[in-house]
Amino acid sequence: MTKPLWAPWRLEYIEQADEQEGCVFCAEAAGTLAPAQSLLVHEGDTAIALLNKFPYSSGHLMVAPRRHVGELGDLTDDEALEIHRLAVAAVGVLKHVYGPEGFNLGWNLGRMAGAGIADHVHLHVVPRWAGDTNFMPVLADVKVIPEHLLETRDRLREAWG
Ligand SMILES: [Zn+2]
Repeated sequence: MTKPLWAPWRLEYIEQADEQEGCVFCAEAAGTLAPAQSLLVHEGDTAIALLNKFPYSSGHLMVAPRRHVGELGDLTDDEALEIHRLAVAAVGVLKHVYGPEGFNLGWNLGRMAGAGIADHVHLHVVPRWAGDTNFMPVLADVKVIPEHLLETRDRLREAWG
């Protein structure tokens, strides 16, 4: 039996998501964020890969189309293919850098399913370790995450090449 990861900061995030201005995926795709704010790890032609600011686990990436698309079925074939390819590359990079024991990949469609940003679809790539349901809540102090995230971003960017 796989236990779901317990990530209490996610709830805070989802509750605040409606109040946020703009769309982080569009901002990352447009390159308008300051270097200290951007969590972009890789840019493709039609899709991007970025770190999740409120991760389920270390190295939690998301792959999203550049276009602001709210419905999975509205992705073009090119976008769907590149999102899949970037997800495969993300798994490879994360394996190389962090050596997780497994991965969960998935789409959260709609707020009820846990999507923080419901109107720009994105594919989660979540590295998993044995026992991470136990130690993650302890490690993942929301106050220490920003520095940790930028370091993670740089390591993954470099490994992605
Ligand atoms: Zn967007």
